[in-house]
Amino acid sequence: MQRPIDGFHQDERGDWIAELRCGHGRHEPWMQAADGRATQLGAALACPPCERFELPVGHAPYKRTREFDQTSIPDALRADHSTKPGVWGVIHVLAGRLRYIVEPPLARTQLLAPGIDGIVVPEVRHRVIADGDVRFFVEFHRATRAP
Ligand SMILES: [Zn+2]
Repeated sequence: MQRPIDGFHQDERGDWIAELRCGHGRHEPWMQAADGRATQLGAALACPPCERFELPVGHAPYKRTREFDQTSIPDALRADHSTKPGVWGVIHVLAGRLRYIVEPPLARTQLLAPGIDGIVVPEVRHRVIADGDVRFFVEFHRATRAP
């Protein structure tokens, strides 16, 4: 999916890296030239790691929901919703199974269970449905440093 370039920084080797809004970094030859960076700031690039549901490096948990079960899932999680730019989620199932439905552009349905976490990609609409008895919580992650 497409992600805007929010900025650039140099890595430890001096190579320029684009900082995408999702938290992923991207390295391309044209970024090494100052005029290339100036004209592409704000432009959108495809982000394959988002399409692979990969949490960006340098992200860490900063809050979590309370524990829910099949009777206490908030309406907000059962209806289509999304996290804010740069905010990732990890759905942890403690017992039972939870159906995790992700809307386009990432369209995917996954059955979550203990040890099978659901990764919530920023700004991508999704919802959950209990598959029988279930206990789970959601942990939110954000950047602690540049990608
Ligand atoms: Zn991304």
